[in-house]
Amino acid sequence: MRTTGPVRQVGNISCNLCGGTDCIPAFGTIETPVVRCRHCGLVFTGRRPEFREIVASRYNREYFEAEYLPQLVRDKETSDVERGEYLRTVEKGLPHLGNERPRLLDVGSGAGFLLEQARTRAWEVQGLEVSEAAASYCQARLSIPVVVGELRRGLFADQSFHAVTMLDVIEHLPDPLSTLKIVVSILKEGCPLLIVTPNFGSVCRYLLGLEAYGIWPDEHLYYFTSATLRKLLQAAGFRKIWIASRDIYPQNLSAIMTNLRVTRKIPNSIARPPDQLKERFYRSKTLRQLRRLGNRVLARVHWGDKLVTLAHK
Ligand SMILES: [Zn+2]
Repeated sequence: MRTTGPVRQVGNISCNLCGGTDCIPAFGTIETPVVRCRHCGLVFTGRRPEFREIVASRYNREYFEAEYLPQLVRDKETSDVERGEYLRTVEKGLPHLGNERPRLLDVGSGAGFLLEQARTRAWEVQGLEVSEAAASYCQARLSIPVVVGELRRGLFADQSFHAVTMLDVIEHLPDPLSTLKIVVSILKEGCPLLIVTPNFGSVCRYLLGLEAYGIWPDEHLYYFTSATLRKLLQAAGFRKIWIASRDIYPQNLSAIMTNLRVTRKIPNSIARPPDQLKERFYRSKTLRQLRRLGNRVLARVHWGDKLVTLAHK
């Protein structure tokens, strides 16, 4: 959706992090204003439909089959590399388990590709997914157990998981603080939660403004920086919080290249569509090394497009 802004009306939803209501418009539309809390800096949609309405309209079978799954299958090979990186990060954050088989819950498990890979690494896996279509795909194709719905108290027993993952999920949730508090309760002592979410403080977001990939107020209800994500995790009861930024979305890189091409500063042959860019970075040894090097820098300066967070109970 294209966004315009700023807007005068700032909505009727209080800040999920500090409970404040003193918000200023950031961007968005009159119907879906996106606001910034003046007290803690959290950025979120100030007015939105009920979550069940969003689920029914955005995460239905038609969306899953026509948009979500084809994209996921197209990117599977390159995205599997990233999934492996995320699982290794989780595994490094595990306490010593002895002979215990680790249990992983993926909140927003989608088609189940992360859990499919985790299972090959000896995890016992469980999915949770609001989209019935995605959950049934995962159960039928991969025989992975998935509960359909939102995370709520009592759904899983206290201290029943060694790790929880939320990849590109927290920005979609209506009440991330409550969800994170439930995650704390279902994790075993000393065990980690991994979060991946778009970085509202990324360089590309500053360069591209509201055209940056992931600025979608209809779907993304929250826009985190490393500072607001850290505060949210602390408020939920997590400790030992590690946050790094990494990667540039190929869509953002492609948009920046196209802008440069338009101003005739680079040749046509260098500007590429996002899918081709991503594939190039994973197929070429030199570009893979460049990505690794770039990510080492982005881990420290938080200018990358994604925030990757490991937080312990
Ligand atoms: Zn606030």
